[in-house]
Amino acid sequence: MEKKDYYDILGVDHSATKDDIKKAYRQLALKYHPDKNKEKGAEEKFKQISEAYAVLYDEEKRKMYDEYGHAGIDQQYTKEDIFRTTDFGDIFQGTGFDFNDIFEQFFGRRSGFTSQPRAQQRGSDIRYDIEINLEDAYRGMETELDVPRTELCDTCRGSGARPGSSPKRCATCGGTGQQQVSRRTAFGMFTQIGVCSKCHGQGTFIEDPCPSCRGRGSIQKTRKIELRIPRGIDDGAHLRLAGQGEHPTGVSQSGDLYVVVHMKKHPVFERRGADLYRKVTISFPQAALGASFSVETLHGTERLKIPEGTESGTLFKIKGSGMPKIQRSGYGDLYVLVQLQTPKRLNKRAKLLLEELQRELEDNNETYK
Ligand SMILES: [Zn+2]
Ligand SMILES: [Zn+2]
Repeated sequence: MEKKDYYDILGVDHSATKDDIKKAYRQLALKYHPDKNKEKGAEEKFKQISEAYAVLYDEEKRKMYDEYGHAGIDQQYTKEDIFRTTDFGDIFQGTGFDFNDIFEQFFGRRSGFTSQPRAQQRGSDIRYDIEINLEDAYRGMETELDVPRTELCDTCRGSGARPGSSPKRCATCGGTGQQQVSRRTAFGMFTQIGVCSKCHGQGTFIEDPCPSCRGRGSIQKTRKIELRIPRGIDDGAHLRLAGQGEHPTGVSQSGDLYVVVHMKKHPVFERRGADLYRKVTISFPQAALGASFSVETLHGTERLKIPEGTESGTLFKIKGSGMPKIQRSGYGDLYVLVQLQTPKRLNKRAKLLLEELQRELEDNNETYK
């Protein structure tokens, strides 16, 4: 398959500045991010735009590409190299997405980043989706989540070495974690700095591995994490639990856990912000004569009085019977839509009464027919 032009992929022209390129990439990346876009081909598209960005944003690579096209890039760099030398961090800042996660999805764990001196400082964030019902959101709730995550091993405290021993400096790379590889290509000799094959870029080597984590320094664990959901929480809210994300080896700080709240559809109430809506059916005599009846709310029942001559489809408000307002005091309102119900099965007496009513209305020149 013919590779597409990097400029075309990002939709920028050849005179584009670094800022233009960054802007174009950011926009596309948010659209095709695999966490967000589940469409077929989105992930492939995300890879393509990320590759295009990594090349065009780097002056040296861009020059190479302008002069020699894809061949100039492909012969000199592996895909991993292209990504590794590019900092995606600030692009995704504040978006809730983590590029390192994606990188791992594309190239597997342990790739990239560790060979750089600016190693990742924090573990990745974890996203956890939770579905709650309206009653829980009304009262607020406490729950426990089972969150699978990477944690530092308790036994060796992340070193990977058996307690009492310590990792040794890697002899192959002299502790730098890097290895030089020279390659002859059509464009001449290229020397590449790669990850040390013996220590995988760690610079150290474990002779006596920790028995609990088998030398990895971290373990996969499904951890019970307590979550407090505040009253009045709405669909789509993000709750951040600082420091409850991934903590792999080699980083000094855990990532965060983001809990995304989804509301289940309620059979009776519909919610708009802090206000609730519900329907109530009334009979024709109630509509005509006026009535007072109890309406179920989320906190019990409330009395609703409707005046005589109420039309079907009239909206009544019960003040303060909506949802608690989040981060404020007070409650929203409950709106009650009254709908006139036409009786389907009438007994003899009811029929006679209605017929009598009809005659009465006709005599009085009412418009009922
Ligand atoms: Zn261990
Ligand atoms: Zn090494």
